[in-house]
Amino acid sequence: MLTDEYVKRVYAQVEKRDGDQPEFLQAVQEVFESLQPVVEKHPEYEKAGVLERLVEPERVIKFRVAWTDDEGKVQVNRGYRIQFNSAIGPYKGGLRFHPTVTESVIKFLGFEQILKNSLTTLPMGGAKGGSDFNPKGKSDAEVMRFCQAFMTELSRHIGQFTDVPAGDINVGGREIGYLFGQYKRIRDEYSGVLTGKGLEFGGSLARTEATGYGLCYYTAEALRVLRNDSFEGKTVIISGSGNVATYAAQKAEQLGAKVVTVSDSNGYIYDPNGINVDVVKQIKEVERGRIKEYAERVPGSEYHEGSKGVWSVKGDIALPCATQNEIDGESAQQLVDNGVTVVCEGANMPSTPEAIAVYQKNGVLYGPAKAANAGGVAVSGLEMSQNSYRLSWTFEETDAKLKSIMETIVANSLAAAKEYGHEGDLMLGANAAGFVKVANAMVAQGVL
Ligand code: NDP
Repeated sequence: MLTDEYVKRVYAQVEKRDGDQPEFLQAVQEVFESLQPVVEKHPEYEKAGVLERLVEPERVIKFRVAWTDDEGKVQVNRGYRIQFNSAIGPYKGGLRFHPTVTESVIKFLGFEQILKNSLTTLPMGGAKGGSDFNPKGKSDAEVMRFCQAFMTELSRHIGQFTDVPAGDINVGGREIGYLFGQYKRIRDEYSGVLTGKGLEFGGSLARTEATGYGLCYYTAEALRVLRNDSFEGKTVIISGSGNVATYAAQKAEQLGAKVVTVSDSNGYIYDPNGINVDVVKQIKEVERGRIKEYAERVPGSEYHEGSKGVWSVKGDIALPCATQNEIDGESAQQLVDNGVTVVCEGANMPSTPEAIAVYQKNGVLYGPAKAANAGGVAVSGLEMSQNSYRLSWTFEETDAKLKSIMETIVANSLAAAKEYGHEGDLMLGANAAGFVKVANAMVAQGVL
């Protein structure tokens, strides 16, 4: 509930201006609830109009992406790059290619990215971009032509010192390669303008694994500090079967847990013997197939239609790793009724406000996305450092830095939660810790 007068006033303004952007409003409301004790303690933020400026992107870029499909037919998609906040570093955030992409979705992601990037302790501002392009069923050549058309426009707005995009849903190694190639061709410049690059052309070891591994390092640290517990012997429910889900499953297993589910937008797999990550990778990454095929290849596993059913499976820890609002109040209640006591978010905003209320009411250890999934952008930040140095670190070195960053995020979140009178609240702590650094930089740099 919003009670602080300043916060209420700014939120009302956002509702008035952006009332047609439901995902963005949802993200702002969640963050604003947490920030009330912070702005009450720091009147200088109101004086400097920090919240009013924070919710207004510095720049919204929206463009036509025209390309030709394999039949020679012209296709037109819509492209976005929303450069939200550059107070603490160059804009940084992923690109998403999915038919559900709208300005509201990119804005919520960009807004979350500001605080997430701040939490990593690295110097990165917040941005997000993408397109309503649907790569499902498209040939390699079509994906390449789309990426080239997309970058032709985007290249005017990005650069290694201004804005450094990365991947997100449906933007993985293949797409980043095509995007990087086109940027290089247009600008005649070899720079670290994108992260998530191939290892042969400036990519960082451990970037592919970073979000999923980071999610497990975060969860393990929160479990250790708050419950004196670990992954050992736990049953884990994971949704999604893409980049984040796959490497979260791999790390959870390495840490002694058994992962029994993965899913895609059609349905989910239940494997009581523990998900075989190599099979998931072969189906989704190599063959670009459907998760249904897992049950045809792994004896003892079952496929169920309907992705939401994954939340009815019994377990101890849930790691949602697919998409926004995938857990509603009802699914959250199902999780709690089935014994889940830990929910840490790999996807961005996977829990609705009703779901979060269920976690809070039932004492669930809740790790919010902007903290729990910050490992991806953290290693992207490390990729930028390596590009600047013109050298590459080993997998072990980068992975150790990632682990240390995730542990610091837990510590900083808990310290902020305590400072603002909500001890143990990882959500409030993440929002407060991420915000204070950005707010102080905004105050120091004057009214921009
Ligand atoms: P991928 O494209 O690799 O995988 C996405 C997965 O989610 C697929 O299994 C996909 O299934 C499923 N999915 C997508 N949309 C829906 C939907 N509407 N309902 C059910 N399932 C769906 O993406 P990532 O793994 O990179 O991203 C997953 C989440 O993690 C996103 O929320 C993203 O923003 C977040 N994230 C990603 C980071 C990264 O480094 N990649 C960093 C931080 C957060 P299908 O094959 O059917 O489409």
